Amino acid sequence: MINDRPLVYLDNAATSQKPQVVIDALVNYYMTENSNVHRGVHTLSQRATDSYEEARVKVQRFLNAADDKEIIFVRGTTEGINLVAQTYGRQNVGEGDEIIISAMEHHSNIVPWQMLCQEKGAHLKVVPINDEGEFLLDEYENLLSPRTKLVSIVHQSNALGTINPVEQIVELAHARGIPVLLDGAQAVAHVPIDVQRIGCDFYVFSGHKLYGPTGVGALYGRADLLDAMPPYQGGGEMIRSVTFEKTLYNVIPNKFEAGTQNIAGSVGLGVAIDYVNNLGMDNIAAYENELLAYGTKRLSEIEAVRLIGTARHKGSILSFVMENAHPHDVGTILDAEGIAVRTGHHCAQPLMDRFGVPATVRASLAFYNTRERN
Ligand code: PMP
Repeated sequence: MINDRPLVYLDNAATSQKPQVVIDALVNYYMTENSNVHRGVHTLSQRATDSYEEARVKVQRFLNAADDKEIIFVRGTTEGINLVAQTYGRQNVGEGDEIIISAMEHHSNIVPWQMLCQEKGAHLKVVPINDEGEFLLDEYENLLSPRTKLVSIVHQSNALGTINPVEQIVELAHARGIPVLLDGAQAVAHVPIDVQRIGCDFYVFSGHKLYGPTGVGALYGRADLLDAMPPYQGGGEMIRSVTFEKTLYNVIPNKFEAGTQNIAGSVGLGVAIDYVNNLGMDNIAAYENELLAYGTKRLSEIEAVRLIGTARHKGSILSFVMENAHPHDVGTILDAEGIAVRTGHHCAQPLMDRFGVPATVRASLAFYNTRERN
């Protein structure tokens, strides 16, 4: 109950609620397996290592990556993008080079590239979107140049719901030998993902939006790229041998997993993946699309409401503003009814500028939402 009303949780794009099995898995891990991984010969350490590595394989299969060594556990999407910027980016981007993002990026897919560009004297190029909130492929193609070193685009926008044409985005970049990173923070909970079919070079997501725990996520990277990249952080686990004169680094994925990782979180993420696999990502997408269509229709019937983000290909997000009502007030009134929505700029200020609004109200859906108030 929230404010004496049954909770209607419509803030799933910020983070999702956790199934009981995920909560149980965390408790169970700490009760029966808690130990450090890859270190001890003792049984408990081997159990923890097995669970941790099984979770990696679950992520690999979930994304359909070719090999489990292409999966790096990170804190979440933000850390995954920073990892690529600070390793691949630092190694491959130089003065006068260009990185392409889009107008609908989350701050976490803007700021790491700005920091890199500032350091290297490189330039950030931004693919514009239309009034419906759709990625403009023609404009994108025009921006691709011999100086482009990386393309980094959101798969599904957290503020609009737009699902981008990622296969075409990758194809156009690859035709010019440019690698592509996809920010899958939202898409991963709503769309079946196949990194080999998409063809992307990097794919990042956060566990907590996929019904898993906070503080854990994954970076998929093509093995040849990861092999060639320098490490991100230095410390235990990421080394093969250390002397004061010289350190030899470990192979992937360990090269990028310095220090004790979020072992329990990774195990919990694996269980969350089992959970959505049991439901079926196609079923989740179909159900949410039906809810989205219903919500869109009902909101469109209210004259004072303006929907922000009306792409033909979108999912799970209803973002809107109301005439003569500040989004914050709308959110506060809904909260008094036990309805949780997000209000604000959704960590996408340049996108809000594009639509000429400071903020929106955002209702974001998950498979456990219903048409009726339950
Ligand atoms: N990208 C997108 C599209 C997001 O929606 C989010 C989370 N709102 C992020 C990146 C950042 O994810 P995290 O805070 O879990 O690192």
